Amino acid sequence: MTMEMPGPHLRYSFCYVIVGSDDSLHVIDPGWGTKENALRLESFLPEIGSDLSQIQSIVVTHLHPDHSGQVEQLRDATGASLMVGADEFTASVAAAAGRDKRWDLGSWGIPAAQLRELSQLEGAKPPLAPTPDVLLADGEELAIPGRHIRAMHTGGHTTGHLCFHDPEASLVFTGDHVLPRIHPGLGLGGKSQENPMAAYLKGLRRTAELDGCEAAPGHEYRFRGLAKRSESMAAHHLRRTKEVADALATNGESTVWEVASRLTWTAGWENLAGFYIASALLQTEMHMDFVRSGAAEAFLGGDSTTG
Ligand SMILES: [Zn+2]
Repeated sequence: MTMEMPGPHLRYSFCYVIVGSDDSLHVIDPGWGTKENALRLESFLPEIGSDLSQIQSIVVTHLHPDHSGQVEQLRDATGASLMVGADEFTASVAAAAGRDKRWDLGSWGIPAAQLRELSQLEGAKPPLAPTPDVLLADGEELAIPGRHIRAMHTGGHTTGHLCFHDPEASLVFTGDHVLPRIHPGLGLGGKSQENPMAAYLKGLRRTAELDGCEAAPGHEYRFRGLAKRSESMAAHHLRRTKEVADALATNGESTVWEVASRLTWTAGWENLAGFYIASALLQTEMHMDFVRSGAAEAFLGGDSTTG
C-alpha cells in the first residue's frame, strides 16, 4: 500500500501487509502517522477479506516517521505487538535523551558566525520512539504463521536498520537500505559504534547476495537486480569518500569545515545554510572518519591515500 508523506521530497512510502497461514495480518512499516493513512489501511483490508482486528504484529525497518509514525496509533487500535530492531531502539533512546554526541561542533573548525547558528540546531532532540514489545536481532524470524521471514541487520541509513528476507517467496523488504533510483542519507539514526559508511557498505554486500530476490523497498517501486543496484549504491557513496580522501591527501591535516568547503556541493558550498550546512558537515565528518580509520582503503582500492 502507498502511504502519503508530507513534505516536498518524497510523496509516499510503502506499507506491506502479510497474511499468515491462520489469516492473521502482519504489517511492515505502517507509514506516516496521519488520520488519512490510518483510514487508507482500514479501508484497504476489506479488499483482501480482512479487517483491523486481524492485525497481530507490526514491524518496522527503522524508526523514521515515514515508516514508523503510525505505529502507536495502529498498536492502540489493534493490540498488535510491535517489533523493532534492538540496535535501532537503543540508538533512538540515546538520541531522544540527548546522548547522541555525533555533533562535536567545537572541534570542526567552524567560523564563529556559522557556529552560533549551528549550535541552535544542535539542541534539537528527536522525539522518543514507541517502546517495542519485541526487540529483533539479526537473523531472527518474524512471528508470522506459515512464513519464514528473517530480519537482516543492514545499518548505515540508521544505526539498526533492518531488511526482511523471505527466501520461500524470493522477496526482500529493503526499507530505505536499497531503493531503485534514489540514495538514502547515511548516519541519520543516532550515534552508532560503527562508522555509518562502513556499516552501509557491509549491508550492501548482504543485499547484493540476494540477487535472485525481488526487492520490495520503502519508497519508489518494486524492482529486480539487487546485486547491481547494491553495487551502484556503494559506488555512489564511495565517490564522496574518494573526494574526501583526495582532499585530505592534498591538503594534509584539515578540519571538517576546511574539507567540506573543498568538496563539490550541488547548490554550491557558499549557498548552504542552516540545516543544509549541518548535514553537509555531518556527511563530511563521516567520510573523514571512514578514511582516517583506514576502513575506507579496502573499498577504494590501491590508489587512495588516507591522509
Ligand atoms: Zn523512508
